Amino acid sequence: MGVSRTRHGPREAVEIASTDEIRALQLARLKTTLQSVAANVPHYQQAFVAHGVHPDDLRTPSDLARFPFTVKADLRAHYPFGLFAVPREQVVRLHASSGTTGKPTVVGYTAQDIDTWANLMARSLHAAGARAGDIAHVAYGYGLFTGGLGAHYGAERLGCSVVPMSGGQTEKQIQLITDFRPDLILVTPSYMLTLIDAMVQAGIDPRQTSLQLGVFGAEPWTEAMRREIETRTDMDAVDIFGLSEIMGPGVACECIETKDGAVIWEDHFYPEIIHPVSGEVLPDGELGELVITTLTKQALPLIRYRTRDLTRLLPPTARSMRRIEKITGRSDDMLIIRGVNLFPTQIEEIVCAIPGLSPHYVIHVDKEGHLDRLLIEVELRDESAASRRAELAREVAHKAKTLIGVSAVIEVRDPFALERVTLGKARRVFDRRA
Ligand code: ADP
Repeated sequence: MGVSRTRHGPREAVEIASTDEIRALQLARLKTTLQSVAANVPHYQQAFVAHGVHPDDLRTPSDLARFPFTVKADLRAHYPFGLFAVPREQVVRLHASSGTTGKPTVVGYTAQDIDTWANLMARSLHAAGARAGDIAHVAYGYGLFTGGLGAHYGAERLGCSVVPMSGGQTEKQIQLITDFRPDLILVTPSYMLTLIDAMVQAGIDPRQTSLQLGVFGAEPWTEAMRREIETRTDMDAVDIFGLSEIMGPGVACECIETKDGAVIWEDHFYPEIIHPVSGEVLPDGELGELVITTLTKQALPLIRYRTRDLTRLLPPTARSMRRIEKITGRSDDMLIIRGVNLFPTQIEEIVCAIPGLSPHYVIHVDKEGHLDRLLIEVELRDESAASRRAELAREVAHKAKTLIGVSAVIEVRDPFALERVTLGKARRVFDRRA
């Protein structure tokens, strides 16, 4: 693997500043942001009055806990432009969330917001191990989704030669990877698996391509999946996190030298972890819902935005800013099967740890009488394991029972039988109970 990439180039001063310096910067920027929304966004004017708070009530960053949350429904209620803090004419770009959970939410950027985003994405890619002069193959979707353009501007800002491939057209992706010899690829981990399969089917050894680095995000993926991708491709697989409401990709990114959770860029985002039900702020290290306040956004500053992503804040390591633990899922991804909580990533961990199976899986939930029924489709890695089908099914069922506590029917499909991701994010759950 590309060892030289772990030797970092110059980092920005703030990435290695003291905690006191970072907290002071956050305090100043929190004050400015609260004043901006109180002056310019009617929703926040009303919400602050309803909560009996005023921007002057913030004396330390922890005072933020007194301010109201913002939720996705607030963006929908003010669809499309109602939460913007600047006149629409100053908005140079619009994006919308992929709408995986309902009507899309619209986000806007001033020219300065786009510039900040490009800088943060360049910082993220540098932390991930990309360097000026690299060829960067961007296979995140371009368009309303923030992934493609976010990655694109950041890679250009870093000084890469950018291939704006976007998602889909798998054969063409493989051709360009073969011909242009990119150093890094930016793509969802599930589409990377599709690309790996397509390479194998085209007779290309995924370990022999020019790719040294993959910057993967936009959906949950496990440590087991990281091992799978790194082993099969001989790349470094690094995690990047973001969401359109807060900016897009590049809110947080792992450092290649540690790969121990994405560093949240605290000079631009103030993170909190809350109890998902009570809303109470939890101490660092505890698992809960990630809440983010933007510190420098002009067009769409958000106060205490509830991401619904479940994680914990971890102490700084490779940079001076805190990290988030690898996200296991969103609160709304959680399935409750006969009273037991199940995240799809738990199935991913099990499947990736069984050598005879490919990393692909699909979860089906429906009702059998009054009871929930869980069916998991998994897939043979290759024909050599075909004779062990029944044994593999028993192994998955046993692990689901003992590790998660759910009973499941397991169907082991032929190699390549399960549908592959061709665009965007994986859809692995079909819940037909409603
Ligand atoms: P949508 O809400 O429509 O999916 P986005 O495209 O903005 O809109 O997706 C942002 C969400 O994607 C995050 O809130 C998170 O749930 C997920 N996500 C992004 N990056 C990661 C990552 N590295 N690990 C886990 N989940 C991620």
